[in-house]
Amino acid sequence: MRSIKQKMKNYTSLTIAVAVLTLAACSPSEAPVVAKDHFHPKGKEPSEFTLEIFEKARETLPFSDRRDFEEQSRGFIAAPESKKIMADAGHAAWDLERYEFLLEPDKINSVHPSMLRMSQLNMNFGLYEVIPGIYQVRGFALANITFVKGDTGWIVFDPTEAAETARAAKELVDEHLGELPVVAVIYSHSHADHFGGVRGIVDEADVRSGKVSIIAPRDFMAYAISENIYAGNAMTRRLFYQYGVLLPASPYGHAGQGLSQNTAAGELGLIIPTRIVEDNIEEFEVDGVNMVFKNTPGTEAPSEMNTYIPGMKALWMAENVVGSVHNIYTLRGAQVRDSLRWSKYINKALYAYGQEAEVMFASHHWPRWGNERVQEILRDQRDVYAHMNNQVLHHVNQGVTINEIHNVYKSPASLEKGWTTGFYHGSRENNSRGIVNYYLGHWDANPATLIPLSPRDSAPLYVEMMGGAEKIMAKGQELHDQGKYRAASEILDKLVFAEPQNQVAKDLLADVYEQLGYQQENPGLRNAFLAGAYELRSGIPEGASPKTSGPDMIRAMTTDLFLDFLGIRMDGRKAEGMAFKINLVTPDNGEKYLIELSNSALTNIEGYQADDADLTITINRSDLEQVMMGAKSLADQIADGTAEIDGDAGVLQQLASTMVDFELGFEILPGTKGPSPETDLNDFEVGPVGAMSE
Ligand SMILES: [Zn+2]
Repeated sequence: MRSIKQKMKNYTSLTIAVAVLTLAACSPSEAPVVAKDHFHPKGKEPSEFTLEIFEKARETLPFSDRRDFEEQSRGFIAAPESKKIMADAGHAAWDLERYEFLLEPDKINSVHPSMLRMSQLNMNFGLYEVIPGIYQVRGFALANITFVKGDTGWIVFDPTEAAETARAAKELVDEHLGELPVVAVIYSHSHADHFGGVRGIVDEADVRSGKVSIIAPRDFMAYAISENIYAGNAMTRRLFYQYGVLLPASPYGHAGQGLSQNTAAGELGLIIPTRIVEDNIEEFEVDGVNMVFKNTPGTEAPSEMNTYIPGMKALWMAENVVGSVHNIYTLRGAQVRDSLRWSKYINKALYAYGQEAEVMFASHHWPRWGNERVQEILRDQRDVYAHMNNQVLHHVNQGVTINEIHNVYKSPASLEKGWTTGFYHGSRENNSRGIVNYYLGHWDANPATLIPLSPRDSAPLYVEMMGGAEKIMAKGQELHDQGKYRAASEILDKLVFAEPQNQVAKDLLADVYEQLGYQQENPGLRNAFLAGAYELRSGIPEGASPKTSGPDMIRAMTTDLFLDFLGIRMDGRKAEGMAFKINLVTPDNGEKYLIELSNSALTNIEGYQADDADLTITINRSDLEQVMMGAKSLADQIADGTAEIDGDAGVLQQLASTMVDFELGFEILPGTKGPSPETDLNDFEVGPVGAMSE
């Protein structure tokens, strides 16, 4: 981070002068205050309107309720000296030091007080006792890693997202609780921050030999792989917004992620489970510890399960109940989740196990002790998901649309008064829109939005009708100066879409987004506004690429998923007029596919072969994986005899000629492609970026 700051200082004074001059030139009103400690030379301090929102939050939210802080620090055993965990590749896999500024909240006035409070809580770091026999290492990654003592070793719930952080956690456990082997791993759900670090604590050979068992919920493998493939590139790009991938850790930038401070950027692996919990409820012993597993499909993840340990009266709520409201709609993009079903599964946990549980722990945040507290949290969480679902539909049935619901839906006052249902991961606004989308889809039933013009096509007309750029800038500045930021963004967005090269307009819109970002309680909303401001000011920096998969994940992809994705990579326009059939045979796993290109669509069907195929390819699935990973081309494998072909090899060349490699740096906001010459940020260092699939 230091290098970018130093580099920026070199041209800070010049760019500030330019920014102030341009703003002064376009409006007679006072320019916003440039923040001198801001990582960006055009960055501004929070305005009086933003500070007013903070002040109101401080007055109305129950800051005197300190139970979360007591629970967060309870049972602390030890922490390593350094808050940095190095990756095998040499970079920092995890760096909590970057967030130490959060430990001095009184000095921060550019983060919403409620979000700041959560970010302070997420500074917990080290080994903690949940109860005798259950321990958690927290603050080593996005997710917690939990160790339950079995008869012969540790049963691990959720080995975080990176091998390096899981290994470091195990070393801390060894040091303070005595060295014991890991004998079982339980993946609570199909998101990578809950299984990606498995290779840091388990040797795959021990899994194969039966020494270590790996337990997972129903359909785990299918969803662990498929959720991020089809729209993967778009989802990864959108992480720059939801997770603020480009934003330096700073009171003016990335100031926590709600579930934890950030994600770990290390080796992401996956060892295939040895036991799947297929039934809705299964009870069995794991290394001598009796556990009740309860599948909760279609909640926080499509494949997820809670676990109750009756002998310890301990309830593991996976990621179904954490210290925040979760995503019904995830800003990075994912299929919308079922809020009602989620609520019902929490209700089942409340009545099946919550009547006697004395402790509840989860894969993020901190445990809750005492039956009363366990029930309080379960009830509040059950109700918040039910309320969202029911009240959103209540409004919808009276005509409120997807484009209005976020301005209409409000949480009940009783839940607003507590901390257990804060919106630190899912946002109230986008969860409510997500619920409308879940039931009705994206259309608001207004004919004007049935087949609207694209923003780039409609914007010039708006600008023309509003009287041109100068008028819009003057009004935009006026609205900005009055603190009417959402109104300002309405018109400035049109101008920026009509005139993508108008840097003065982009800078003013960036100022607007920055204030909107500061004002948010929800880290995803904050990051999205601040990322938008960042890209408008400086363009999209190159070279920052979050990791969403690794070799293990690609190996675990089914062949039809791989073939489906080829169909997505294919540019249909390049395939006009092409038509062929390919038989694909993978002898080592006994699979056969018929792949057909017709009408510019590439389709595949398992178990069939065409008699009139233009080409038959025979290759072991294990060799095909080299192609899937991009390590070797199919042409090379044909040349060296790894793959055999029979028929017209020309169809492969035709197919290859239609393939497109998706680039991550596509524009979201216009005129942001490539760093602008004014702020040359080519060597901009971003923080560690790891697997994200929340
Ligand atoms: Zn998670």
